[in-house]
Amino acid sequence: MSALCHMLHLTSLAAALPTLLDTARQEQLSYEAFLTLALKAEMDGRDARARTRRFREARLPFPSDLERFDFRFQPSLSERVVRELVKTATNVVLVGPPGVGKTHLACGLARKALDAGHTVRFVTLRELSAQLVAPRGGGVNAIRRYSQPMLLVLDEMGYTQLTPVQAQALFDLVLARYEHRATIFTSNLTFAEWGGLLGDEVLPLLDRVLHHAEVIAINGRSYRMRERAASDRPTATP
Ligand code: ADP
Ligand code: MG
Repeated sequence: MSALCHMLHLTSLAAALPTLLDTARQEQLSYEAFLTLALKAEMDGRDARARTRRFREARLPFPSDLERFDFRFQPSLSERVVRELVKTATNVVLVGPPGVGKTHLACGLARKALDAGHTVRFVTLRELSAQLVAPRGGGVNAIRRYSQPMLLVLDEMGYTQLTPVQAQALFDLVLARYEHRATIFTSNLTFAEWGGLLGDEVLPLLDRVLHHAEVIAINGRSYRMRERAASDRPTATP
């Protein structure tokens, strides 16, 4: 029976079958109840594998989630507004200085999207801009690849200056995603400063990005510095 399952690619059922058969004998299940359990075992296994694959393909840099974000540390930020983002906004722009939790929040929102069954891809502007003009798999192929995920996280808009060709490709990607896919941007720069990164593409690009966007400015202190300050403090407090 296990061999048949494998031939039909019912791998989760094959694994669950010995236990299921035991249960069926002990509890004298009807044929119908047994078959339902068997099919459900296969379904659950497939869902779990799809979820694992989605998480792997998202390439989130660290497993931060919203539950582990200390909103009290960042009073400029409303937890309610952040949680609402999952439901309402198409695009989110997280703006603020280094260390205030932009990447953490972006990953936390991305995990929510993954949990809800959406596809996600995380990439920094540096990686993306290189891939958009890569000799193999770049150009339209890269644009197509990055236009597919339901949610794209584009991290660190601000540390990489784009060439005109890269800026044009980024604009094409934003256009391809416009109005049917969500994007989260993080940036340490103000929008006025994006011109320095993107050149002539900046205005049409911002126009599309900001059309359906929530802009969240985080003005607080760096959490990294807080951790540093805590560890620099003498440990033996009287
Ligand atoms: P940014 O992307 O704004 O530079 P990060 O998101 O990388 O900042 O945050 C830096 C580090 O501090 C990460 O390890 C992150 O998990 C942590 N961190 C930042 N803000 C908070 C917060 N409010 N609560 C818990 N951890 C935080
Ligand atoms: Mg960051």
